[in-house]
Amino acid sequence: MDRIRLLGLTIDRVNMDEALKFIDGMVARKKPGHVVTADASMIVIAREDPELASIVERADLVTADGAGLLWASRLFGQPIRDRVSGVDLVARICERSAEGGPSAYFLGAAPGIAEEAAEALRSRYPGARIVGTRHGYFKASEEPQVVADIRAARPDVLFVAFGIPKQEKFIQRNRDAMGVPVSIGIGGSFDVHSGRVPRAPLWMQRAGLEWLFRLMQNPGKLSKVMLLPRFVALALRVKITGR
Ligand code: UDP
Repeated sequence: MDRIRLLGLTIDRVNMDEALKFIDGMVARKKPGHVVTADASMIVIAREDPELASIVERADLVTADGAGLLWASRLFGQPIRDRVSGVDLVARICERSAEGGPSAYFLGAAPGIAEEAAEALRSRYPGARIVGTRHGYFKASEEPQVVADIRAARPDVLFVAFGIPKQEKFIQRNRDAMGVPVSIGIGGSFDVHSGRVPRAPLWMQRAGLEWLFRLMQNPGKLSKVMLLPRFVALALRVKITGR
């Protein structure tokens, strides 16, 4: 695997097809595993959250989700060419599921959203095996039941949409008990696939302006977007001072 160190995290330089192939291998091995989709906010959060940093270090695969990481990788002369986003991973894995590929379980987002996302993806990819859905606003005391239900559904792939770092910590804490070969934290992807949150137009995605589009849709997300200037400042400081 072509891995690079970037501002404290290890990132795999894979494109979507390579990531899907790697995930197929994890499904075949059957051992519980973890795929991380990392973005600029994760780099900033992980610097102040050693638990998150060590979870990402131990993940089987870490993809670059976001223009910020691609920019920083060029700044440090180790360009990552392709984004592999959570939104696209959900769609591509459902597409393959419909072709006899892995089954999936959708965990997270507000009540009703995971179901709506599953419906939308089943109609886009008829035959996609989505073997369970559940929202992400349960009490800590309900976690053992959530884990038991996932285990009983026996999905090949579990998508967890709680946001960073909650989803990564949930996966780490429960991976052995769930016994799912591939667990992937995917942030707000169900909100996008449910149709509740529109996807940025392609030109904005290509220009690296997806964050601006999200901010325009939901000004309440300002706190997360405010991590971007900190990410840029961090990258420039490390570039200039070397630490
Ligand atoms: N969410 C959840 N449970 C929580 C907190 C958040 O299910 O306790 C969901 C929220 O509804 C949203 C997603 O997690 O669908 C977070 O999306 P966001 O884009 O903020 O995540 P990011 O990838 O930016 O961390």
